[in-house]
Amino acid sequence: MLTRREFISLCAKTTMAVSLSEVLLADLDKAITAKEIKKPTIIWLELGSCTGNTISLDNTASPSVKELFSKVIDLRFHWIFMNVEGSNATNVMRQTAKEKAGEFILVIEGSVVLADGGTWDNIAYENGKLVTGVSVLKDLASQAKQVIAIGSCAAFGGPSAAHPNPSKSVGVQDVLDRQVINTPGCPCHPDWFLGTLYHLINYGLPELDTYNRPKLFYGRLLHDQCQRRTYFEKGIFAQNLGDPWCMFTIGCRGPRTYADCPNREWNGTDNWPVGCNTPCIGCVEPGFPDVSMPFFQRYPDLKLPGFTANLDKAALAAGIVTLGGLGAHLGASLATRRLRKNLTETSLPLTPPGPHTEAQLEGIRTETVPEGAPTQAKVVRTEPAPALLQVRRPRKARRTLHKQ
Ligand code: SF4
Ligand code: SF4
Repeated sequence: MLTRREFISLCAKTTMAVSLSEVLLADLDKAITAKEIKKPTIIWLELGSCTGNTISLDNTASPSVKELFSKVIDLRFHWIFMNVEGSNATNVMRQTAKEKAGEFILVIEGSVVLADGGTWDNIAYENGKLVTGVSVLKDLASQAKQVIAIGSCAAFGGPSAAHPNPSKSVGVQDVLDRQVINTPGCPCHPDWFLGTLYHLINYGLPELDTYNRPKLFYGRLLHDQCQRRTYFEKGIFAQNLGDPWCMFTIGCRGPRTYADCPNREWNGTDNWPVGCNTPCIGCVEPGFPDVSMPFFQRYPDLKLPGFTANLDKAALAAGIVTLGGLGAHLGASLATRRLRKNLTETSLPLTPPGPHTEAQLEGIRTETVPEGAPTQAKVVRTEPAPALLQVRRPRKARRTLHKQ
């Protein structure tokens, strides 16, 4: 097995010919075959989600997701991959939780749906009754050794909890009174999940940030790792998608996003959004997507020391600083530290997206209220703006901004 130091330096490596997952899975496979460690037992629960994180895990092309599930993980329940259904499947889930109480890892994908006592998301039929996702989650979490929330919906509510959130979706940690490890992303990168799992198996709990995300993967500002950072500091900005310059002007959320995408890259170290000329939309942050929307529009203001400027003025200021030869020190100080601080702490989303009127909400009700749902399911929030600005945060993190 890798030592912790080797593992951490592998995670931080910026140039790898193969993905981190590939290296870690081969290492786990070897250790399990040599009986150095036991396969971790996993129950994977899908709640309010599109299954995108499971699909993303399929990015671990070599070894394949099939090898992952059969060789290095003792996967007992995952409704997408099971070849049984109904009580045959849920009995396995319950039995595993009983037999492996205090040992198994519970992975949650998707948001916790709370509308109408959770009945919008019934996930089992037991003893003649429908059972809600939230109640199964609470039962299993009370017996699990660790709980990992995979993807932004499970971590913070994500797109499932986007305004006006008629399903009253929330993140896993909002309903549990215990430690939850968040590996957000829309979807979660396979390396973020497998790296966290590897750390848990071999070295215990990884160091977490304010939002309970492993610092190994979510510890650095994306903007600081971006290959186009020099353009930002020189004030050279893209005007259109496809332009090879800094994409802040067309809505890049890199300056308020903590993830290692520029170095990790997607699809087996191939590329990432800015690398293919589209802005980062900040999918790993609490409050996504509401706090990132409207996509492809820049944040309105930058508060620079002594005055508030729009980005054009900021770009001009950066240009003057460079041209005037005030030097790297002042430029770096403004552009790197204060600018970043002000960007991340004072920028607010633009006017929140609709719906803003009763008529628009009516359209949403028609689309989203399931047939036969009780009448009160139709009660949805009617004041859009405050809900968007009051970003729900994990209990521990409320009122706290990133301290980096
Ligand atoms: S704003 Fe976006 S594109 Fe520009 S440097 Fe930051 S992360 Fe890169
Ligand atoms: S680049 Fe931005 S939007 Fe894309 S996965 Fe990373 S954090 Fe999410």
